Amino acid sequence: MAPRKLAAGNWKMNGTLAALAEIDAILAQPAGCDVLICPPAVLVQAVAAKGIATGGQDCHAKASGAHTGDIAAQQLKDVGASHVILGHSERRTDHAETDAQVAAKAVAAHEAGLVAVICVGETEAQRDAGQTLDVISAQLAGSVPDCATAANTVIAYEPVWAIGTGRTPTNDQIAEVHALMRDRLAARFADGADFALLYGGSVKPGNAAEIFAIPHVNGALVGGASLKASDFGPIVAALSAA
Ligand code: PEP
Repeated sequence: MAPRKLAAGNWKMNGTLAALAEIDAILAQPAGCDVLICPPAVLVQAVAAKGIATGGQDCHAKASGAHTGDIAAQQLKDVGASHVILGHSERRTDHAETDAQVAAKAVAAHEAGLVAVICVGETEAQRDAGQTLDVISAQLAGSVPDCATAANTVIAYEPVWAIGTGRTPTNDQIAEVHALMRDRLAARFADGADFALLYGGSVKPGNAAEIFAIPHVNGALVGGASLKASDFGPIVAALSAA
């Protein structure tokens, strides 16, 4: 099985019911790749009801219990989600999530039948210090659980300094990290060659095709440019053509 191509939109804390019109516009466009929308939790059910693959943006490691404000993987699954983003840098920063917590959430996601989209990425200081490959290796080792397979896990490389900034790594920098991730996954998992590897960080219609031509880039996790079908549509089209 070759890695599946995936264009994933992360709406973060943006969107109300009015944004469902964007889903209609995305669905109106033929796609030659998997398309996933990860809206705020309150919109998961409504987005999933449109018939598009839908993901949460986080889940708790426990299946239920006294965790006010949190959402269990099974609850996401129950309202129609197929995926969940885990370990996004904004959660690692805002909520001090550790690799071990991300791995525990991924196990919970898998047990609920969700595909875990696990995010890794270095800060600008870590890149400047020449630590990028070590950071990514450590995050992969710590955040991806042993039960991961190409069918239940997607890895997103998202340099923290590229998220929402309009800045992107060079193609060589993306290629270097994606090759490392492929090597690490292939060394650890029998089907490591088949995991879909996404790039994320200021992907736009104008740079998508170039990024999708980089070896081992099987798609993108898109933040800002996923909010409008007029931006996300061309990204889906670029991946479809890659
Ligand atoms: C993200 O939130 O995962 C992301 C990559 O954001 P943006 O595309 O806005 O940089």
